[in-house]
Amino acid sequence: MIDQRETVLHALQNVAGPDGRALGVDSDTLEITVTADRIAVSIAIDPKDAAIWEPVRRDVEARISQLGGATHRAIVTLTAQSQRQPMRAKPAVATFPNLAKIKHIVAVASGKGGVGKSTTACNLALTLRARGLAVGILDADIYGPSMPKLLNLKGRPNLVSGRTLTPLEAYGCKVMSIGFVVETETALVWRGPMVASAVTQMLRDIAWGALDVLVVDMPPGTGDAQLTLAQYVPLAGAVIVSTPQDLALIDARRGVEMFRSVGVPILGVIENMSYFICDDCGKRHHIFSHGGARTEAEKLNVPFLGEIPLDPAIRERADSGLPIVVTEPDGPQAESYRTIADRILEGLNIG
Ligand code: ADP
Repeated sequence: MIDQRETVLHALQNVAGPDGRALGVDSDTLEITVTADRIAVSIAIDPKDAAIWEPVRRDVEARISQLGGATHRAIVTLTAQSQRQPMRAKPAVATFPNLAKIKHIVAVASGKGGVGKSTTACNLALTLRARGLAVGILDADIYGPSMPKLLNLKGRPNLVSGRTLTPLEAYGCKVMSIGFVVETETALVWRGPMVASAVTQMLRDIAWGALDVLVVDMPPGTGDAQLTLAQYVPLAGAVIVSTPQDLALIDARRGVEMFRSVGVPILGVIENMSYFICDDCGKRHHIFSHGGARTEAEKLNVPFLGEIPLDPAIRERADSGLPIVVTEPDGPQAESYRTIADRILEGLNIG
Protein backbone atom coordinates (compact mmCIF):
# COMPACT_ATOMS: atom_id res chain seq x y z
CA MET A 1 0.00 0.00 0.00
CA ILE A 2 2.93 2.29 0.69
CA ASP A 3 4.03 1.60 -2.87
CA GLN A 4 0.57 2.45 -4.09
CA ARG A 5 0.80 5.83 -2.36
CA GLU A 6 4.12 6.46 -4.06
CA THR A 7 2.52 5.64 -7.38
CA VAL A 8 -0.28 8.10 -6.70
CA LEU A 9 2.18 10.82 -5.75
CA HIS A 10 4.08 10.15 -8.94
CA ALA A 11 0.96 10.27 -11.10
CA LEU A 12 -0.10 13.58 -9.60
CA GLN A 13 3.30 15.19 -9.79
CA ASN A 14 2.56 17.66 -12.58
CA VAL A 15 -1.13 18.30 -12.02
CA ALA A 16 -1.76 21.94 -12.82
CA GLY A 17 -4.16 24.20 -10.92
CA PRO A 18 -6.57 26.58 -12.67
CA ASP A 19 -3.71 29.08 -13.13
CA GLY A 20 -1.65 26.50 -15.02
CA ARG A 21 0.94 26.20 -12.29
CA ALA A 22 1.78 22.82 -10.76
CA LEU A 23 -0.14 22.15 -7.54
CA GLY A 24 2.68 20.25 -5.90
CA VAL A 25 1.92 16.95 -4.21
CA ASP A 26 3.45 18.14 -0.95
CA SER A 27 1.27 21.21 -0.73
CA ASP A 28 -1.69 21.56 1.62
CA THR A 29 -4.02 21.63 -1.39
CA LEU A 30 -3.98 17.91 -2.08
CA GLU A 31 -4.76 15.35 0.57
CA ILE A 32 -4.23 11.76 -0.51
CA THR A 33 -5.54 8.68 1.29
CA VAL A 34 -4.83 5.19 0.00
CA THR A 35 -6.78 2.34 1.61
CA ALA A 36 -7.14 -1.32 0.77
CA ASP A 37 -9.65 -0.71 -1.96
CA ARG A 38 -9.67 2.94 -2.83
CA ILE A 39 -7.57 5.94 -3.58
CA ALA A 40 -9.11 9.16 -2.30
CA VAL A 41 -7.83 12.61 -3.10
CA SER A 42 -9.37 15.74 -1.69
CA ILE A 43 -8.52 19.12 -3.17
CA ALA A 44 -8.90 21.99 -0.69
CA ILE A 45 -10.28 25.09 -2.41
CA ASP A 46 -12.27 28.22 -1.75
CA PRO A 47 -15.89 27.06 -2.39
CA LYS A 48 -16.62 30.08 -4.63
CA ASP A 49 -13.96 28.79 -7.05
CA ALA A 50 -15.54 25.33 -7.38
CA ALA A 51 -16.40 25.75 -11.06
CA ILE A 52 -12.88 26.64 -12.16
CA TRP A 53 -11.46 23.76 -10.14
CA GLU A 54 -13.78 21.16 -11.65
CA PRO A 55 -11.48 20.47 -14.67
CA VAL A 56 -8.59 19.98 -12.23
CA ARG A 57 -10.69 17.52 -10.23
CA ARG A 58 -11.46 15.60 -13.43
CA ASP A 59 -7.80 15.59 -14.41
CA VAL A 60 -6.80 14.14 -11.03
CA GLU A 61 -9.57 11.57 -11.24
CA ALA A 62 -8.50 10.49 -14.72
CA ARG A 63 -4.90 10.09 -13.61
CA ILE A 64 -5.61 7.98 -10.54
CA SER A 65 -8.46 5.92 -11.94
CA GLN A 66 -5.95 4.31 -14.29
CA LEU A 67 -3.62 3.33 -11.48
CA GLY A 68 -5.16 0.73 -9.25
CA GLY A 69 -6.88 -1.37 -11.90
CA ALA A 70 -10.17 -2.90 -10.81
CA THR A 71 -9.03 -3.27 -7.20
CA HIS A 72 -8.93 0.42 -6.34
CA ARG A 73 -11.76 2.88 -6.72
CA ALA A 74 -10.76 6.48 -7.35
CA ILE A 75 -12.61 9.17 -5.42
CA VAL A 76 -11.71 12.80 -5.97
CA THR A 77 -13.52 15.56 -4.10
CA LEU A 78 -13.29 19.32 -3.82
CA THR A 79 -13.26 20.33 -0.14
CA ALA A 80 -13.76 23.77 1.34
CA GLN A 81 -10.43 24.88 2.78
CA SER A 82 -12.01 25.71 6.13
CA GLN A 83 -13.70 22.30 6.48
CA ARG A 84 -10.49 20.45 6.59
CA GLN A 85 -8.49 20.28 9.77
CA PRO A 86 -5.63 22.70 9.48
CA MET A 87 -2.56 20.80 8.39
CA ARG A 88 -0.14 20.69 11.24
CA ALA A 89 3.54 21.06 10.74
CA LYS A 90 4.41 17.48 9.99
CA PRO A 91 7.32 16.12 12.01
CA ALA A 92 9.67 13.91 10.09
CA VAL A 93 8.50 10.31 10.23
CA ALA A 94 10.84 8.47 12.53
CA THR A 95 13.53 6.48 10.79
CA PHE A 96 15.19 4.67 13.65
CA PRO A 97 17.65 1.86 12.87
CA ASN A 98 15.69 -0.49 15.13
CA LEU A 99 12.66 -0.09 12.87
CA ALA A 100 14.58 -0.73 9.68
CA LYS A 101 13.68 -4.40 9.43
CA ILE A 102 9.99 -4.02 10.25
CA LYS A 103 7.93 -4.32 7.09
CA HIS A 104 4.58 -2.98 8.31
CA ILE A 105 3.66 -1.05 11.44
CA VAL A 106 -0.07 -1.22 12.09
CA ALA A 107 -1.90 0.87 14.71
CA VAL A 108 -4.89 -0.60 16.50
CA ALA A 109 -6.85 2.35 17.80
CA SER A 110 -10.20 3.30 19.26
CA GLY A 111 -11.94 6.61 19.76
CA LYS A 112 -12.49 5.78 23.43
CA GLY A 113 -11.45 3.30 26.11
CA GLY A 114 -13.19 0.08 27.07
CA VAL A 115 -14.26 -1.06 23.62
CA GLY A 116 -11.90 -4.04 23.64
CA LYS A 117 -9.06 -2.46 21.65
CA SER A 118 -6.25 -4.18 23.55
CA THR A 119 -7.95 -7.58 23.58
CA THR A 120 -8.52 -7.25 19.85
CA ALA A 121 -4.96 -6.08 19.16
CA CYS A 122 -3.57 -9.01 21.15
CA ASN A 123 -5.71 -11.67 19.48
CA LEU A 124 -5.09 -10.22 16.02
CA ALA A 125 -1.33 -10.12 16.54
CA LEU A 126 -1.36 -13.76 17.65
CA THR A 127 -3.52 -14.69 14.68
CA LEU A 128 -0.99 -13.09 12.34
CA ARG A 129 1.71 -15.08 14.14
CA ALA A 130 -0.30 -18.26 13.61
CA ARG A 131 -0.36 -17.36 9.91
CA GLY A 132 3.42 -17.76 9.99
CA LEU A 133 4.41 -14.11 10.13
CA ALA A 134 7.09 -12.62 12.37
CA VAL A 135 5.08 -10.37 14.67
CA GLY A 136 5.79 -7.81 17.37
CA ILE A 137 3.37 -6.12 19.73
CA LEU A 138 4.03 -2.64 21.07
CA ASP A 139 1.70 -1.79 23.92
CA ALA A 140 1.57 1.98 23.70
CA ASP A 141 -1.61 2.23 25.75
CA ILE A 142 0.09 4.26 28.38
CA TYR A 143 -3.11 4.97 30.30
CA GLY A 144 -3.79 1.27 30.82
CA PRO A 145 -1.09 -1.03 29.47
CA SER A 146 -2.74 -4.44 29.20
CA MET A 147 -0.29 -6.66 27.35
CA PRO A 148 1.49 -7.84 30.53
CA LYS A 149 -1.87 -9.23 31.72
CA LEU A 150 -3.23 -10.37 28.36
CA LEU A 151 -0.05 -12.31 27.63
CA ASN A 152 0.81 -13.21 31.22
CA LEU A 153 4.18 -11.50 30.90
CA LYS A 154 6.21 -10.24 33.79
CA GLY A 155 9.74 -8.96 34.06
CA ARG A 156 11.78 -6.28 32.48
CA PRO A 157 13.38 -6.15 29.07
CA ASN A 158 17.12 -6.80 29.16
CA LEU A 159 19.58 -4.12 28.24
CA VAL A 160 21.66 -5.35 25.30
CA SER A 161 23.88 -2.41 24.62
CA GLY A 162 23.84 1.30 25.28
CA ARG A 163 20.19 2.06 25.79
CA THR A 164 18.87 -0.73 23.57
CA LEU A 165 16.53 -3.25 25.17
CA THR A 166 15.43 -6.67 24.00
CA PRO A 167 11.66 -7.14 23.88
CA LEU A 168 10.07 -9.91 25.93
CA GLU A 169 8.45 -12.81 24.13
CA ALA A 170 5.03 -14.46 24.40
CA TYR A 171 3.44 -17.09 22.18
CA GLY A 172 6.11 -16.48 19.54
CA CYS A 173 5.59 -12.68 19.40
CA LYS A 174 8.06 -10.04 20.53
CA VAL A 175 6.39 -7.79 23.07
CA MET A 176 7.17 -4.42 24.56
CA SER A 177 4.84 -2.69 26.94
CA ILE A 178 5.09 0.61 28.67
CA GLY A 179 3.86 -1.46 31.63
CA PHE A 180 7.25 -3.25 31.79
CA VAL A 181 9.10 -0.02 32.48
CA VAL A 182 6.87 2.50 34.28
CA GLU A 183 4.30 2.38 37.03
CA THR A 184 0.85 2.82 35.55
CA GLU A 185 0.00 5.44 38.16
CA THR A 186 2.94 7.55 36.98
CA ALA A 187 1.92 7.38 33.36
CA LEU A 188 -1.67 8.34 34.07
CA VAL A 189 -0.74 11.94 34.67
CA TRP A 190 1.48 12.24 31.63
CA ARG A 191 0.42 14.77 29.10
CA GLY A 192 0.37 14.35 25.34
CA PRO A 193 4.00 15.17 24.54
CA MET A 194 5.30 12.90 27.31
CA VAL A 195 3.20 10.01 26.07
CA ALA A 196 4.43 10.52 22.54
CA SER A 197 8.04 10.73 23.63
CA ALA A 198 7.74 7.57 25.79
CA VAL A 199 6.33 5.65 22.85
CA THR A 200 8.95 7.04 20.55
CA GLN A 201 11.62 5.80 22.94
CA MET A 202 10.07 2.35 22.90
CA LEU A 203 10.24 2.33 19.13
CA ARG A 204 13.74 3.72 19.00
CA ASP A 205 15.33 1.72 21.80
CA ILE A 206 13.88 -1.76 21.33
CA ALA A 207 15.81 -4.34 19.33
CA TRP A 208 12.79 -5.51 17.35
CA GLY A 209 14.86 -7.27 14.71
CA ALA A 210 13.17 -8.41 11.52
CA LEU A 211 9.36 -8.38 11.71
CA ASP A 212 6.64 -8.71 9.11
CA VAL A 213 4.16 -6.77 11.23
CA LEU A 214 4.45 -4.68 14.38
CA VAL A 215 1.03 -4.20 15.97
CA VAL A 216 0.82 -0.99 18.01
CA ASP A 217 -1.88 -0.95 20.68
CA MET A 218 -2.50 2.80 20.70
CA PRO A 219 -3.66 4.85 23.68
CA PRO A 220 -7.45 5.26 23.38
CA GLY A 221 -8.84 8.53 22.11
CA THR A 222 -7.93 11.16 19.57
CA GLY A 223 -6.08 13.75 21.60
CA ASP A 224 -2.70 15.29 21.03
CA ALA A 225 -0.75 12.22 22.16
CA GLN A 226 -2.50 10.00 19.64
CA LEU A 227 -2.20 12.56 16.87
CA THR A 228 1.51 12.98 17.47
CA LEU A 229 2.01 9.23 17.39
CA ALA A 230 -0.01 8.89 14.21
CA GLN A 231 2.19 11.54 12.61
CA TYR A 232 5.49 10.40 13.95
CA VAL A 233 5.40 6.62 13.75
CA PRO A 234 5.85 5.32 10.19
CA LEU A 235 2.47 3.59 10.12
CA ALA A 236 1.44 1.40 7.20
CA GLY A 237 -2.16 1.71 8.32
CA ALA A 238 -4.64 1.96 11.16
CA VAL A 239 -7.39 -0.35 12.35
CA ILE A 240 -10.22 1.20 14.38
CA VAL A 241 -12.04 -0.90 16.98
CA SER A 242 -15.55 0.11 17.97
CA THR A 243 -18.56 -1.35 19.73
CA PRO A 244 -21.88 -1.02 17.92
CA GLN A 245 -23.40 1.75 20.06
CA ASP A 246 -23.88 5.18 18.56
CA LEU A 247 -21.64 6.90 21.07
CA ALA A 248 -18.74 4.57 20.42
CA LEU A 249 -19.25 5.04 16.70
CA ILE A 250 -19.00 8.81 16.96
CA ASP A 251 -15.63 8.30 18.63
CA ALA A 252 -14.61 5.75 16.02
CA ARG A 253 -15.38 8.36 13.33
CA ARG A 254 -13.06 10.79 15.12
CA GLY A 255 -10.37 8.11 15.04
CA VAL A 256 -10.77 7.65 11.29
CA GLU A 257 -10.64 11.39 10.76
CA MET A 258 -7.54 11.76 12.90
CA PHE A 259 -5.55 9.19 10.93
CA ARG A 260 -6.81 10.62 7.67
CA SER A 261 -5.75 14.11 8.66
CA VAL A 262 -2.16 12.91 8.84
CA GLY A 263 -2.31 10.72 5.74
CA VAL A 264 -2.30 7.30 7.46
CA PRO A 265 -4.35 4.79 5.45
CA ILE A 266 -7.34 3.31 7.28
CA LEU A 267 -7.20 -0.47 6.95
CA GLY A 268 -10.72 -0.67 8.31
CA VAL A 269 -13.16 -0.74 11.20
CA ILE A 270 -13.90 -3.73 13.48
CA GLU A 271 -17.15 -4.17 15.39
CA ASN A 272 -16.24 -5.71 18.75
CA MET A 273 -18.85 -7.08 21.16
CA SER A 274 -21.02 -7.20 18.09
CA TYR A 275 -23.50 -9.84 19.22
CA PHE A 276 -23.93 -12.38 21.99
CA ILE A 277 -24.55 -16.08 21.46
CA CYS A 278 -26.68 -17.46 24.27
CA ASP A 279 -25.24 -20.58 25.92
CA ASP A 280 -28.73 -21.90 26.58
CA CYS A 281 -30.62 -21.27 23.37
CA GLY A 282 -27.70 -20.90 20.95
CA LYS A 283 -29.31 -17.82 19.36
CA ARG A 284 -27.60 -14.54 18.56
CA HIS A 285 -28.69 -11.60 20.72
CA HIS A 286 -27.89 -8.07 19.68
CA ILE A 287 -27.34 -6.49 23.05
CA PHE A 288 -25.98 -3.14 21.84
CA SER A 289 -27.85 -3.13 18.55
CA HIS A 290 -25.76 -4.48 15.75
CA GLY A 291 -24.19 -3.55 12.46
CA GLY A 292 -23.51 0.08 13.41
CA ALA A 293 -19.80 -0.18 12.64
CA ARG A 294 -20.46 -1.66 9.21
CA THR A 295 -22.84 1.20 8.33
CA GLU A 296 -20.40 3.73 9.74
CA ALA A 297 -17.53 2.23 7.73
CA GLU A 298 -19.62 2.54 4.56
CA LYS A 299 -20.41 6.16 5.35
CA LEU A 300 -16.74 6.89 5.96
CA ASN A 301 -15.68 5.03 2.84
CA VAL A 302 -13.37 2.70 4.73
CA PRO A 303 -13.35 -1.12 4.67
CA PHE A 304 -15.40 -2.99 7.26
CA LEU A 305 -13.13 -5.72 8.59
CA GLY A 306 -15.58 -7.88 10.53
CA GLU A 307 -17.39 -8.61 13.76
CA ILE A 308 -16.25 -10.18 17.01
CA PRO A 309 -18.92 -11.54 19.35
CA LEU A 310 -19.39 -10.46 22.94
CA ASP A 311 -18.24 -13.70 24.47
CA PRO A 312 -17.45 -14.40 28.12
CA ALA A 313 -14.79 -16.89 26.98
CA ILE A 314 -12.87 -14.08 25.23
CA ARG A 315 -12.85 -12.05 28.44
CA GLU A 316 -11.97 -14.98 30.72
CA ARG A 317 -9.05 -16.06 28.54
CA ALA A 318 -7.88 -12.48 28.21
CA ASP A 319 -7.99 -11.98 31.98
CA SER A 320 -5.94 -15.09 32.62
CA GLY A 321 -3.25 -14.43 30.04
CA LEU A 322 -4.37 -17.28 27.80
CA PRO A 323 -5.59 -15.54 24.64
CA ILE A 324 -8.46 -17.36 23.02
CA VAL A 325 -6.90 -17.59 19.57
CA VAL A 326 -4.00 -19.56 21.06
CA THR A 327 -5.89 -21.69 23.55
CA GLU A 328 -8.93 -22.45 21.36
CA PRO A 329 -7.65 -22.03 17.82
CA ASP A 330 -10.47 -24.13 16.35
CA GLY A 331 -13.28 -22.24 18.08
CA PRO A 332 -15.65 -19.77 16.42
CA GLN A 333 -14.03 -16.83 18.23
CA ALA A 334 -10.62 -17.58 16.70
CA GLU A 335 -12.36 -17.85 13.34
CA SER A 336 -13.75 -14.28 13.72
CA TYR A 337 -10.25 -12.99 14.42
CA ARG A 338 -8.84 -14.93 11.45
CA THR A 339 -11.34 -13.40 9.04
CA ILE A 340 -10.36 -9.93 10.22
CA ALA A 341 -6.62 -10.65 10.24
CA ASP A 342 -6.81 -11.89 6.66
CA ARG A 343 -8.55 -8.69 5.57
CA ILE A 344 -5.84 -6.67 7.27
CA LEU A 345 -3.21 -8.66 5.38
CA GLU A 346 -5.06 -7.95 2.15
CA GLY A 347 -5.06 -4.27 3.04
CA LEU A 348 -1.32 -4.44 3.55
CA ASN A 349 -0.90 -6.32 0.29
CA ILE A 350 0.52 -9.35 2.10
CA GLY A 351 -1.02 -12.37 0.39
P1 ADP B 1 -9.69 -1.26 25.70
O1 ADP B 1 -8.30 -1.63 25.30
O2 ADP B 1 -10.52 -0.73 24.56
O3 ADP B 1 -9.78 -0.38 26.91
P2 ADP B 1 -9.91 -4.00 26.65
O4 ADP B 1 -9.33 -4.79 25.55
O5 ADP B 1 -9.09 -3.77 27.88
O6 ADP B 1 -10.46 -2.62 26.10
O7 ADP B 1 -11.30 -4.68 27.03
C1 ADP B 1 -12.16 -4.16 28.04
C2 ADP B 1 -12.87 -5.36 28.70
O8 ADP B 1 -13.72 -5.99 27.75
C3 ADP B 1 -11.90 -6.43 29.18
O9 ADP B 1 -12.39 -6.97 30.38
C4 ADP B 1 -11.95 -7.49 28.07
O10 ADP B 1 -11.67 -8.79 28.56
C5 ADP B 1 -13.38 -7.37 27.62
N1 ADP B 1 -13.59 -7.74 26.20
C6 ADP B 1 -12.96 -7.24 25.11
N2 ADP B 1 -13.44 -7.78 23.99
C7 ADP B 1 -14.40 -8.67 24.37
C8 ADP B 1 -15.29 -9.56 23.67
N3 ADP B 1 -15.28 -9.62 22.35
N4 ADP B 1 -16.13 -10.33 24.43
C9 ADP B 1 -16.15 -10.23 25.77
N5 ADP B 1 -15.36 -9.42 26.49
C10 ADP B 1 -14.49 -8.64 25.79
